[in-house]
Amino acid sequence: MLQIEQVSKSYGTINALNNVLLTIPKGTCYGLIGPNGSGKSTLIKIISKIIRSYEGRIKYVGGAKGTLGYVPQDISLEEKLTARTNLEFFGQIHRLKGSTLKKKAEQILKDIGLLERADHIVESFSGGMKRRLNIGCALMHDPELIILDEPTVGVDPQSRRYIFNIVNKLKQQGKTIVYVSHYMEEIENLCDYVAFIDKGNIVEEGEIKALVNRYANTAVYFEAEDSTQLLANGKFAFTPYKTGAIIQSNDPLTTITELVQLSRDHHVIPEQLSLFKPRLEDVFFQLTGTDLRDQNEKGE
Ligand code: ADP
Ligand code: MG
Repeated sequence: MLQIEQVSKSYGTINALNNVLLTIPKGTCYGLIGPNGSGKSTLIKIISKIIRSYEGRIKYVGGAKGTLGYVPQDISLEEKLTARTNLEFFGQIHRLKGSTLKKKAEQILKDIGLLERADHIVESFSGGMKRRLNIGCALMHDPELIILDEPTVGVDPQSRRYIFNIVNKLKQQGKTIVYVSHYMEEIENLCDYVAFIDKGNIVEEGEIKALVNRYANTAVYFEAEDSTQLLANGKFAFTPYKTGAIIQSNDPLTTITELVQLSRDHHVIPEQLSLFKPRLEDVFFQLTGTDLRDQNEKGE
């Protein structure tokens, strides 16, 4: 559906993107995640043709070109107009008119949960309502490819739920979605694929389930009283993790057996001994050596 080939972009001396290579399959929800300033917005502005000067190429396979819906990170609405008028305005840009236009606006108002506020001016809306409307505007022409830039930043829980429902509905309709976020849980819950971006480089990408499994199958989680001391005695290479430790291994089942033996030898009963099942967050940590949450807190 969408092929991104060796895309690079610099702003003066800042390299925002370095040779980005990605394929976004048709009908998938593709998550793009990385810390503030890692190049996410730049990449999707290139995909959405907002930025037109860059190196490399983007191939839109199978007609995605004409039907693209881009939801910018910064809300762009006419504050003095009503929700309905904003939607109709975007519909008209895409040549909808008459009853088709009215019906489409009505349906979108329902989907974004703003039917009751349809004829109020945007100025009176909460941040979350504005975000929902901003998304609605990008959906008026029924695009095949929808690109959302951090759609849940700073919104209330109710609006967040609406946004997830909108994304899930688009998935059911078979649309292709690029979902940008720095919230790992959102990507994990909504998306099928993920690309991790750090300092303008894609550090890993693929199907989320496969990624998590790949990282899970190369490590063992061990927790016991004094795990650190015990593991050091057993000459295991390990990384302290939460209340226990992670032992990297090419053969985790053998490692588990060795840990059982080590525990026996020292008369220790482990609290936990298992294949390490990382969350997406842990995969990012293993890849970059940095915690996304810490980085975002620093940046915000
Ligand atoms: P993200 O969306 O991941 O936070 P951005 O794509 O917005 O990252 O930014 C990537 C890098 O490019 C950052 O270092 C940012 O400061 C820089 N940058 C983004 N837009 C501009 C611009 N218009 N002019 C100069 N630098 C920019
Ligand atoms: Mg951004």
